[in-house]
Amino acid sequence: MSKFIIAKFGGTSVADFDAMSRCADIILADDNIRVVVVSASSGVTNLLVDITKTTDVSSRHDAFAGIERITLNVLNRLQQPQAVAEPIELLLAELRAMIENGGAVYSSAHKDLIQSFGERLSSVLFAQVLVERGAASLCFDIRRVMRTDSRFGKAEPQLAMIAELAQVHLTPLLADYRVVTQGFIGADDFEQTTTLGRGGSDYSAALLAEAIQAATVQIWTDVVGIFTTDPRLTSDARCIREISFDEAAEMATFGAKVLHPATLLPAMRQNIAVFVGSSREPAAGGTWIAKTVQERPPYRAIALRKSQTLITVKSPAMLHAAGFLTRVFDTLSRHQISVDLVTTSEISVALTLDEGGMTSAFSNSVEPALDELKTFCEVTVEQGLSLVAVIGNHLHSSKGVAGALFHALERINMRLICHGASKHNLCFLIQDQDGPAVVKQLHQSLFSS
Ligand code: ADP
Ligand code: ASP
Ligand code: MG
Repeated sequence: MSKFIIAKFGGTSVADFDAMSRCADIILADDNIRVVVVSASSGVTNLLVDITKTTDVSSRHDAFAGIERITLNVLNRLQQPQAVAEPIELLLAELRAMIENGGAVYSSAHKDLIQSFGERLSSVLFAQVLVERGAASLCFDIRRVMRTDSRFGKAEPQLAMIAELAQVHLTPLLADYRVVTQGFIGADDFEQTTTLGRGGSDYSAALLAEAIQAATVQIWTDVVGIFTTDPRLTSDARCIREISFDEAAEMATFGAKVLHPATLLPAMRQNIAVFVGSSREPAAGGTWIAKTVQERPPYRAIALRKSQTLITVKSPAMLHAAGFLTRVFDTLSRHQISVDLVTTSEISVALTLDEGGMTSAFSNSVEPALDELKTFCEVTVEQGLSLVAVIGNHLHSSKGVAGALFHALERINMRLICHGASKHNLCFLIQDQDGPAVVKQLHQSLFSS
């Protein structure tokens, strides 16, 4: 393991020049921070997604104007804007050309290429902010290292290749430079730009930490750590000072947006501790995520994930028959659909899909999968549901867990409940519109003592 620290700064942390300057303070205060992973400035990726979604050229130009404004606002605050004016102008010109010559509908490869501009712009600007603060810093194109497969929109990192490329191209720079690079993006074997999925910069940072055997990963964001639930949902939410990999991974998987769901996989593989803190208030401390922690309370946090789809498949053939479930899951797996919760009865099985979290390529595969299921069973689809996950320890073997939950939610229509498979979570489904109130109520009864 090296002494190097990887620091990742999210969209709000690099939203403008002042925000970037605060991040520079954090970096300059610690000589071991050698790799800096940045997101696109706040709002930019959404504008890029808008460009890929609309066929209306003038809407595309409006979105471009928004991106240009955010970019030039930073550029014009630099002491030496001319130092990076050329690469910035080239990037903007390339993006403009893709808007003008892109045709009515973009291919999925073009969509990823367009979405990559946010991080490519912010990283050039941020490296210059560091240079102007006296740091030896450079902007590094992570596509030279972050090798992925070609599943545009949600590309899968190729770990062995990333480690090898990092060794050759990235590690030699770290003795002399603070290397600023892009989160979220990568490239496939054919040098086509790919993306890791929305919010993927956290995952990029953890993957790079694994590749260079970093000592720790820091995730700098707009909250002072990981809370017992999304602080936007209730003012009762409290910051958790220390949490285990398992618990934090469950939180990320079940919707705690503060971490991309896959972030902790590389950290757990290599036992690299992860710190989450606020770039606005670095002195406020934060949350440490590690393998071993001092306390493992029964209730740790509540996560909420909207826009879930519940699919119920029913077949009298399931009665006393072997193979029905295999056939259902085989169909879903061939269509590359991943299932979250599952419950079964005598002749039916209910399962949930995270359609809200799917890229359009994946949600397009749901319809054909359902059509195939319909050839051998009855299929019902319900949408507009939210998944609530209670995360903690020994939930499957502690007394009173289900009782506490049902008591807190006696007036709520719980559509499905999953409990027992994991010692770390208990999940249930409710209507989307009930989500915020349910989390607030449950948080109060589980945490306010
Ligand atoms: P960044 O742009 O820095 O990656 P994100 O918006 O992706 O930031 O993630 C930070 C947000 O995650 C917070 O503003 C907060 O609303 C949300 N969030 C959801 N669940 C939690 C939680 N349990 N603890 C802290 N923040 C959470
Ligand atoms: N910029 C990307 C997004 O907004 C990745 C990230 O911020 O993590 O989804
Ligand atoms: Mg994020």
